[in-house]
Amino acid sequence: MGRRGASDGTWIIGTLCAVLSACAGIQERHADKPVAIVGVTIIEVESGDLLAPMTVIIRSDTIADIGRTDQQPVPDDALRIEGKGRFLVPGLWDMHTHAHRRGRSAWHYPAYIAHGVTGIRDMGTDLDSATAHRASWRSDAIAPTVWWGSPPIDGAEPVLPFGVPVTNADEARTIARRFDNQGFRFLKVYDLIDPASYHALCEEARRLGLPVEGHVPLNLSPTEVAEAGQRTIEHLTLVLEACIPGTLAWVAADTTGDSMGLLSDGRLAASLAEYDSATAQVLFAKLAEAHIWQVPTLVQMRGAFFIRDSVFVNDPRISTLPADIRAEWDTYRNETPDTVLKAGCLVFERQLAMVGVMHRAGVPFLAGTDASAEPWVFPGTSLHDELALLVEAGFSPLDAIRTATLNPARYRGEGGKLIAPGSVADLVLLDGDPTQDIARIRQIDGVVLRGRYLDRDALDQLVAR
Ligand SMILES: [Zn+2]
Repeated sequence: MGRRGASDGTWIIGTLCAVLSACAGIQERHADKPVAIVGVTIIEVESGDLLAPMTVIIRSDTIADIGRTDQQPVPDDALRIEGKGRFLVPGLWDMHTHAHRRGRSAWHYPAYIAHGVTGIRDMGTDLDSATAHRASWRSDAIAPTVWWGSPPIDGAEPVLPFGVPVTNADEARTIARRFDNQGFRFLKVYDLIDPASYHALCEEARRLGLPVEGHVPLNLSPTEVAEAGQRTIEHLTLVLEACIPGTLAWVAADTTGDSMGLLSDGRLAASLAEYDSATAQVLFAKLAEAHIWQVPTLVQMRGAFFIRDSVFVNDPRISTLPADIRAEWDTYRNETPDTVLKAGCLVFERQLAMVGVMHRAGVPFLAGTDASAEPWVFPGTSLHDELALLVEAGFSPLDAIRTATLNPARYRGEGGKLIAPGSVADLVLLDGDPTQDIARIRQIDGVVLRGRYLDRDALDQLVAR
């Protein structure tokens, strides 16, 4: 999400090429053979049905055949994977990442794949790094499929160092056309873009057929961006605020803050008792009707505020971090005032409860983590954390899984079943049923990445590196 003034990571551990060549041994192992997963239970995320025992045949990067195990022939030359007692889900998508700044992909990519994240939505990086990564991406690499958003389009003084300033309607139209020409899938909007520029941007984007996604700018409201046709709201920006009468007015009048600072400066926390359920229901009905996806990145907000909790201090995943990221998190933990963390924790708890209410009101959700260099957000495993938080908020485990599988596919405009002949073979093989307990989404025995099977050893190697 970006804290104003934060360094946003300072490490570089090598180029993407280094990762690709290091992974070459794994890639080539089974590249030419069909893969057969035999006797597995398929979790059909659309219906919620569990189909068993089934056999899935994969050729090249595609699911070629699926049938009942007693009826589905297995090619003689297939790499045979035992599926008995195991569960197959579609590859997971992390729908909010910043995986491409400052060589970060060398850390992020292997971690995503090792934890079943076969696709990511990139929510903005420097234009140069986006262009370079898009040009060098290869389908045979150990890399997720990337859905590219533009660099964040912001006000005259962008919050993020890689934000693009826009100060009037003409500039907004020009930047929309430029990012469209450059092949971005959507325009990302940020906190400080002014209403006139924002509406011009949306108008031009509509003409181009390009979605506008991102924050609710601080001078607008969730209702206004829904009416303008914005396709997503990240981090619940201004959603809780809109449910507390009077709050949007003081937010708009304050030109010093950003959406993240707003959560922890104490003013919002002090007004939580004034949350108005009737106002909220009207708003949620509007968001549901507009089908504007929410990407709450709960794990990012939790990571920003609960960092002195012993569970976070002692998280074993810290040992997997690059040294300077670890140092940056330590500094953040040691230097952030107690009052800020306390206020942030109160707001987070309220947002968590609100997410459950929104889900029951029919507002659609996507799972995203804000994996970048944000405190206590670990690329890959934090998506599992996000699904657990959605369950804590009141989602069924199946509905939580849908936010990282079915809903991202619908967001990308894909219809039909995800695990079906003709689909891209991005799959995760689990040793437990995650629809019974979301924690089992972490129990990964193997990952199929665009048809290539990576067993537990291969995944462990990715993480070790
Ligand atoms: Zn972000």
